[in-house]
Amino acid sequence: MRKPIIAGNHKMNLTPTQTAALLRDLKAATKATTGVQTIVFPPFTSLVVANEIVANSPIELGAQNIHQAPKGAYTGEISAAMIAEVGCQWVICGHSERRQLFGESNVVVRDKVRAAIEAGLSPILCVGETLDERNAARTKEVLRDQLSGSLSGLAANELQNLVIAYEPVWAIGTGMTATPSDAENGCCYLRSVLGELYGSNLALSTRILYGGSVKPNNIVTLMAEENIDGALVGGASLTSEAFSAIVNYHE
Ligand code: PEP
Repeated sequence: MRKPIIAGNHKMNLTPTQTAALLRDLKAATKATTGVQTIVFPPFTSLVVANEIVANSPIELGAQNIHQAPKGAYTGEISAAMIAEVGCQWVICGHSERRQLFGESNVVVRDKVRAAIEAGLSPILCVGETLDERNAARTKEVLRDQLSGSLSGLAANELQNLVIAYEPVWAIGTGMTATPSDAENGCCYLRSVLGELYGSNLALSTRILYGGSVKPNNIVTLMAEENIDGALVGGASLTSEAFSAIVNYHE
């Protein structure tokens, strides 16, 4: 049984004060929620206050990125151990904005996934095709390449807490949600590739999320699909009204 995850990526939005207000409201709005694992990913500067607010609540905390090295001369970067110490259990690795805007290759993403696991964090590994790749019928090739490249050298026993997010780049922040069947096809394909790489046990136990313009009005149909185990939510995670409606989708 794969417990659904609803994860909110705040990106470079919300000061610590604004994050605190959002999470206080979210905590109240989701206090009766059962059966869904809720995770928030505020900016680094909000993590300490976020941890104070979500403590003693079911809401879990993660960071949007880490550096792959454990420490050293990497001005401006943050390590896995640093975010773990301020209460994070999760980290997003390989978000398409990191891949596209900051040039993160599969090798860099793989090193971040490994650094996360070594620090006891659970990674959410993001993969997804661009519109050009989709139009050129290259979606499967891209998903296979990103998934295998971002996990290369890692063994199945290291990946027990891995979560994958299928995020078609053309659907992120555009309002163009993938249809439930497109989203299901992507998640189903990723599960089959995971099975080829690591065997059916890991493939069947790994949660695979869909991300890309998830809103309160489309979450129910997405979650009805067999291989969609939750959502990674950007824009709609910035208000407690929208995000709690997504978290409480089954009510
Ligand atoms: C994201 O950034 O991971 C995302 C899915 O954003 P949005 O929900 O705004 O499309």
